Amino acid sequence: MRILITAGPTREYLDDVRFLSNASSGKMGYALAEAALLAGHQAVLVSGPVALKAPLGCEFHAVETTSEMHEACLECFAGCDGAIGAAAVCDYRPRQRLAGKIAKAGRPLFVEFVETPDILADLGRQKSNRWIVGFALESTNQRENALRKLHAKGCDAIVLNDPATIGSDSNRIELIDGSGLVVATWDAGKAEIARELIAWIESNLAQKSR
Ligand code: C5P
Repeated sequence: MRILITAGPTREYLDDVRFLSNASSGKMGYALAEAALLAGHQAVLVSGPVALKAPLGCEFHAVETTSEMHEACLECFAGCDGAIGAAAVCDYRPRQRLAGKIAKAGRPLFVEFVETPDILADLGRQKSNRWIVGFALESTNQRENALRKLHAKGCDAIVLNDPATIGSDSNRIELIDGSGLVVATWDAGKAEIARELIAWIESNLAQKSR
């Protein structure tokens, strides 16, 4: 299979030097690309800025903003059998990116935010016989929110993450399949979880794209 994987955070700029982002390390997405390659698949990794080296042998696309990640994913998805959304994408961006550096003016600064495109939902709408696996990091009503995202984004499975995973080498997850059933729980290092998830996809979703 040829697998599209998103990883890392995105950045949304307020002006030319300041941005909003999050603490995603990209470790889960990079581990997935590595596991896909080790299992004999092709990996297309679309990544926001992280301090990791792309695994040798993957097709790598470095992006910064959500809209750049969106554009790269739509372009690459055409040649792929499925996609895994492991990126921690910014849901909002400042309406305007101001030129230069905003100067202090001695009064509060109000910034209006607008929603960014939902990359996975757009891939889900175009997927036809391809498969989509999403990630959900939830602090409250975890199962309920993960199930809502599974359906809203057209996913074939969703990985429910523990918030403690951010920046960590390990992860505690529940894998929920397209019918909403918890089909696996893994508490392990990200490399091991990546291997398990790729193996589960091979057994349960790969036939969709044949
Ligand atoms: O941020 P959220 O909890 O909605 O993320 C759920 C899934 O959707 C993740 O797989 C994430 O990579 C993906 N996502 C996306 N584009 C967005 C927001 C989230 O692809 N704008």
